[in-house]
Amino acid sequence: MNKIKVKNTIVEIDGDEMTRVMWHMVKDQLLLPYLDMNVAYFDLQLKKRDETDDKITLEAAEAIKKHGVGVKCATITPNKERVKEYSLKKEWSSPNGTIRAALDGTVFRAPILVNNILPAVRSWKKPIHIGRHAYGDVYKNCEYRVPEAGKAELLFTNVEGKELFRGTIQDFKGPGIIQGIHNTDKSIDSFAKACFTYAYDQRLHLWFGAKDTISKTYDAQFRKIFEEEYQNNWKAKFEEAGLDYLFMLIDDAVARIMKSEGGLLWACKNYDGDVMSDMLGSSYGSLAMMTSVLVSPQGYYEFEASHGTVQKHYYKYLKGEKTSSNSMALIFAWTGCLRKRGELDKTPEVVEFAEKLEEAALETVESGVMTGDLIAVAKTDPKNRKVDTEEFIAEVAKRLTKKLK
Ligand code: NAP
Ligand code: MG
Repeated sequence: MNKIKVKNTIVEIDGDEMTRVMWHMVKDQLLLPYLDMNVAYFDLQLKKRDETDDKITLEAAEAIKKHGVGVKCATITPNKERVKEYSLKKEWSSPNGTIRAALDGTVFRAPILVNNILPAVRSWKKPIHIGRHAYGDVYKNCEYRVPEAGKAELLFTNVEGKELFRGTIQDFKGPGIIQGIHNTDKSIDSFAKACFTYAYDQRLHLWFGAKDTISKTYDAQFRKIFEEEYQNNWKAKFEEAGLDYLFMLIDDAVARIMKSEGGLLWACKNYDGDVMSDMLGSSYGSLAMMTSVLVSPQGYYEFEASHGTVQKHYYKYLKGEKTSSNSMALIFAWTGCLRKRGELDKTPEVVEFAEKLEEAALETVESGVMTGDLIAVAKTDPKNRKVDTEEFIAEVAKRLTKKLK
């Protein structure tokens, strides 16, 4: 069989632990036998980040800006224990955070649906995607424990030192708490652009929920920026594609989500996205049944698994014990990346390969062949069979080979 040629370069970012082990199995068995790919390879395993003083992470982000499309394995974000375990020079920051900041991106997550694992909410037939604004609000706040009676004020002084605003937050009669939060027009604008780009790209309706009836300046600014972005750049395209943009109050959005059938992108402010993506993740059964992609307003894409390096399974693997780790999210990171590469390069054969690989992976699970995390939540069926890490990938490969004949 002739290999399918992937025209332009893919940025491949390797990672750590069990996901690194699975990453290579996926490449060797599901990709390299069929694809002639040119990759720009960056090894972000913790040891390499330490050796390069984390320069390799920035280089990987720059490479995504150059080539447009990347795919990333899960990586360790070091803490005190990891510094000891790997004898690190320092507690390097999260590679995801570094790459996100460099690309000014928004993270989009969506469940991978199979017919033998039902979502906890019965009406959900199509995936609900979440776009989480990853900047500001309560995550970059200034807080104070008020110890006694007194006055709390909100004060803004411009760069010339002129006082432009002073308002009373509260006249405290006794102890309490205060918090200052902020956001910037630039960041909200990037977030809005990324959400419209993603929704249009995937042909999804876009919902955005905030609380502008209560927060008439802060949340109202989010609403205003989204509305301007829609009117200026998307209205015509959305209408032509039959897509809606809906702004609603956040509590209304929550109520409507529970009754919707899915097939939409839910743009969430930072805190709402934090809370709601965890709710969504757990309602679909396993962390390995979520896709995750970082999209920049310039149209750079980085596909990844949303779970971590599956450390506990890795230690078992190192001891030579059997593991049953699920490679679905890693497979879908690769197919997402290949589909996007194929679309940008105008190579439908690459897009078609990505689709066949996804079908093979979904059919494997739907035939009852599953890793331990899914067996626990799937509909009971006599044909269900728990397989180990290697066997699951081999089963996908078997189905893929048939499809490509
Ligand atoms: P994790 O790797 O997501 O794993 C947490 C637990 O979820 C696992 O112990 C396992 O449960 C289950 N799980 C996750 N992925 C699975 C899969 N593919 N197949 C089967 N089960 C799966 O999170 P963690 O153990 O808290 O973090 C480990 C490391 O990952 C940390 O060093 C952290 O810094 C890093 N991390 C990286 C990223 C990223 O790069 N995107 C994201 C999050 C965390 P059972 O043990 O019950 O089987
Ligand atoms: Mg959370």
